[in-house]
Amino acid sequence: MAPRVLIIGASVGGATAAITLRGLGVETVLIEKELRKAKPCGGAVPPAAFREFDLPTHLIDRKVKNCLIVSPSGQETSVPVAGTVPTDDDYVAMVRREVFDGYLRERAQERGAEIIHAQLTGLEVTESGVRASYRSMADGSEHTISADVVIGADGAYSPTAKMLGLPALPRAVAIQERIALPDSQMARWEDTADLYLGAEVSPDLYAWAFPKKDHVTVGIGAGPGHTQRAKELLSNLKRRLGPALDGGQVILREAHALPMEPRKQMAFDRAMLIGDAAGLVVHTSGEGIYWAMKSGQLAAQVLGQHLDAPTAKNLHAYERIWWKEYGTMYQFLRFLQWWGYGNERQMEVFTEMCRNPDVQRLTFDSYMHKTMAPAPWGAQMKMTWDIIRAQARNYASH
Ligand SMILES: Cc1cc2nc3c(=O)[nH]c(=O)nc-3n(C[C@H](O)[C@H](O)[C@H](O)COP(=O)(O)OP(=O)(O)OC[C@H]3O[C@@H](n4cnc5c(N)ncnc54)[C@H](O)[C@@H]3O)c2cc1C
Repeated sequence: MAPRVLIIGASVGGATAAITLRGLGVETVLIEKELRKAKPCGGAVPPAAFREFDLPTHLIDRKVKNCLIVSPSGQETSVPVAGTVPTDDDYVAMVRREVFDGYLRERAQERGAEIIHAQLTGLEVTESGVRASYRSMADGSEHTISADVVIGADGAYSPTAKMLGLPALPRAVAIQERIALPDSQMARWEDTADLYLGAEVSPDLYAWAFPKKDHVTVGIGAGPGHTQRAKELLSNLKRRLGPALDGGQVILREAHALPMEPRKQMAFDRAMLIGDAAGLVVHTSGEGIYWAMKSGQLAAQVLGQHLDAPTAKNLHAYERIWWKEYGTMYQFLRFLQWWGYGNERQMEVFTEMCRNPDVQRLTFDSYMHKTMAPAPWGAQMKMTWDIIRAQARNYASH
């Protein structure tokens, strides 16, 4: 029997959509071309994802409790990972995508979704249904499959979006190395993650060192104008990290694109886009795992209500609910990227601002628990005053 929903891409977004659809009893098939290699990713996941998607904590390599932010001039700000009301649930989870994605795929299969190891090669959406062509990764044979609706969960290059006739999104590139370190060196990253700012490592985003079970991932993000320099920026970061990487061995170098803008439209007649395919990565952090899962869940819930009439008009509820819920946060974080990473002086101001305890708590409330509660009046005044002082100090000294 033909599935009702076909999902292209069985990574975090696609697998979550499939789990949700199976929960609603909907016949679901996923097409995934890459079941062996992990998606290139820093693997930082907020606790909200573990709570909201009922994920076991054995998927976590390390719980980061402290973030070190290093400005272009080497000014350091150490930020405890804690929200306004500190709890045991305050951490940034570090996961390896091969483990994390593998678990979600298995869960989707256990709930009855089928995963076809194949590459999507063609897509036709008509009034009466969806017909996709794919090439088996096992033996190269060509097949077709029909369904009522397609969900594009196929990442930043989204072939589904392309086959729907949509333009490519502006993209950044992120490149990273997994570096295995001697135990004595790993102690430095027991529960700490580093963020580095500066034109020599990341002109418009940031660079990172994230600890995993037995290695550190060291990487940089480079916006659309700087992607050609990605390897050079990564070398600069490794030079900057210097002795902290002594004795390290590169076990993997990996790179992938990050969408830099959400799509204007995410729901169409018989088709929906989620996660990176819809451009749902937040700007300041490049965070996309939680958002791919959340959009996969919401798209599936909306689709579950309209399977018998999956028109753009009905499926539009997905977009409407999404932007009502998260629009302000996306806009704020986009502004923050523009403001904080705009040039090196602003990066200095940003690093200094991160010393303000209210900024720290609000940042981690919004990252860890996905809540954006307004700060009390007194805290807002103090933050504003600290920004003015930091701006004045950094601009007067140049
Ligand atoms: C280097 C790097 C570091 C990052 N670090 C973080 C981080 O620390 N935390 C965070 O939250 N986010 C991070 N991100 C972003 C995060 O990886 C993505 O936002 C997230 O993976 C998006 O999930 P998704 O399910 O939408 O798409 P993806 O994870 O990109 O998955 C798309 C899937 O579609 C499949 N696919 C593509 N084309 C086809 C085809 N033709 N046929 C069949 N299958 C196909 C792919 O194989 C893939 O499995 C990082 C990204 C990069 C590049």
